[in-house]
Amino acid sequence: MEKICVAVRLRPAVSEDSTNGTFWKVEDNRITLHKIHGTPLSTSSYAFDHIFDESSTNASVYELLTKDIILAALDGFNGTAFAYGQTSSGKTFTMNGSETDPGVIPRAVRDVFTKIETMCDREFLIRVSYMEIYNEEINDLLVVENQKLQIHESLERGVFVAGLREEIVNNAEQVLNLIKAGEVNRHFGETNMNVRSSRSHTIFRMVIESKGKDYNSSNDCSISDVVRVSVLNLVDLAGSERIAKTGADGVRLKEGKYINKSLMILGNVINKLSEGLKQRGHIPYRDSKLTRILQPALGGNAKTSIICTIAPEEVHIEETRGTLQFASRAK
Ligand code: ADP
Ligand code: MG
Repeated sequence: MEKICVAVRLRPAVSEDSTNGTFWKVEDNRITLHKIHGTPLSTSSYAFDHIFDESSTNASVYELLTKDIILAALDGFNGTAFAYGQTSSGKTFTMNGSETDPGVIPRAVRDVFTKIETMCDREFLIRVSYMEIYNEEINDLLVVENQKLQIHESLERGVFVAGLREEIVNNAEQVLNLIKAGEVNRHFGETNMNVRSSRSHTIFRMVIESKGKDYNSSNDCSISDVVRVSVLNLVDLAGSERIAKTGADGVRLKEGKYINKSLMILGNVINKLSEGLKQRGHIPYRDSKLTRILQPALGGNAKTSIICTIAPEEVHIEETRGTLQFASRAK
């Protein structure tokens, strides 16, 4: 297991709040919070593998943080890239992107197919799935009727989501169209934060299977039986804000509890993984659906990166601090 790569990305200010930037400072890969609501802080300084400032592009986030994971997946390594942060901090912008600056997911999809073209000595089979975890229930975003799916485990398949659609795909356009169709099915809800916040975790998954083509002297192209299978997960997590801030009750409160719990378990799992093999001990993958589903691509033969998105406005300082704490625990 390699070190988990952890980065922080600051989104540009969207409000007119003139206090932006006066309470935190970025120097190289270190971010320091000076005060919270006027109270000075002495020890809130955090260092990461990268800090992407307000002017950073999805292109640069992809290049520095995710591209290696994608390329390794083509060579048989499992990989997972997460976006973590409060609602409206830029997770979906980072993962999906905009027309002019596509995000990590479309860039990854295009790179996979571009790279495959150049790997003439192997034959590839690519399957994609797209699911959400909403209130600890797994729903298929590619097939609306596939709701409340169960996690199973078998010797042959390992841990898998029973009944989840896995679409065999041949080109990037096809995948991007599937994602577009799946987006429509995501769960959204209104909160007091006055944004259309995402209440579910979504996992976009590519299973990359390849076999070496064996060119022998007689020039016929027999297929050797060495099969590589790797799983690539690109995960847009539910908003990490605390329940109190959103003034939630009823349905929103229930959602908030599930979200907080699964993010906490994810934090515990990642924290364990980033410790040395010896200290690690029991890793609580089974404590949440999210970590259970991601288990095969988190431990062992896997590459992981986390982009933690934060908002620059002072009203968000508590959430920003929470995100930085999550991020520093993950290193
Ligand atoms: P989240 O998914 O974390 O709730 P979004 O990605 O939806 O947040 O971002 C909230 C708003 O801010 C959106 O309108 C989005 O387009 C904008 N935004 C987020 N990050 C950036 C960025 N780096 N550059 C420009 N706009 C951004
Ligand atoms: Mg979002």
